[in-house]
Amino acid sequence: MGFRLGNVDGRAVLVEGDGVFDLERASGGRLGPEAVAALAATDALHEVAGGLDPATADHRLADVVLGPPVPTPRSVLGIGVNYRDHAAETGHALPPAPLVFAKVASCLAGPTDDIVLASATTDYEAELVLVIGAEARDVPSASAWDVVAGVMVGQDVSDRELQNAGQRPQFTLGKSHDTYGPTGPFVVSTDLLPDRDALAIRCEVNGEVRQNDTTANLIFDVPALVAYLSSQLTLRPGDLVFTGTPSGVGLPTGNFLRPGDIVHTVIDGVGELVNRVR
Ligand code: ZN
Repeated sequence: MGFRLGNVDGRAVLVEGDGVFDLERASGGRLGPEAVAALAATDALHEVAGGLDPATADHRLADVVLGPPVPTPRSVLGIGVNYRDHAAETGHALPPAPLVFAKVASCLAGPTDDIVLASATTDYEAELVLVIGAEARDVPSASAWDVVAGVMVGQDVSDRELQNAGQRPQFTLGKSHDTYGPTGPFVVSTDLLPDRDALAIRCEVNGEVRQNDTTANLIFDVPALVAYLSSQLTLRPGDLVFTGTPSGVGLPTGNFLRPGDIVHTVIDGVGELVNRVR
């Protein structure tokens, strides 16, 4: 049985249909209110999700404001230049190995939170976000999906001027302003995905389609990323990996985000983010 793990008022919740279930209550105390700890016990998450009684929901989905599903991960990594067309539009050669940067966890925001502009060169990047569900070191690509608890929709919002301000580009700070990491709406367990290796991903700004691709076109796919990252460091439950963005970002044309814009980010079978820019 799959699960959708969300966050209401800083407490982990399971979502089934339009019912929202406080995880600690629904699990009879077996699991607590903290997402990282719950993701370290994914077998229990699956079990609890499978036994939810719709009559005992704590809230209706329409009545709650969702926070970032994993608000306090230990690590948040991002991958640059990971779709062929995006490499071409930004003038990058295809990378020989994954290009990895950190996104500081304080940038994480919820699926309907505002993106608060820190510069006039702020760009959108629709991305598939992996949520790790096991301690993982030296994982072979053949079993890489086994350590992924689920996925989310993410926006790797990026301050292009700051990102390229260093003598050599330094991605981390330009991608870590407060609110520059919308995620959600839920961690969707991988068994609920229509095709985990080919998920349709789109980004619209004010209703205009800017990005439209599929994760089948990742240069380094999910197994390759998990194998590579876990060969260099230990991934832990709750860690997030932003897997890179398709073509169509604002950078090549200077079409950056402006106050009042609505950024709509969708991955079919996972969900959507709707973030207003201010
Ligand atoms: Zn990105």
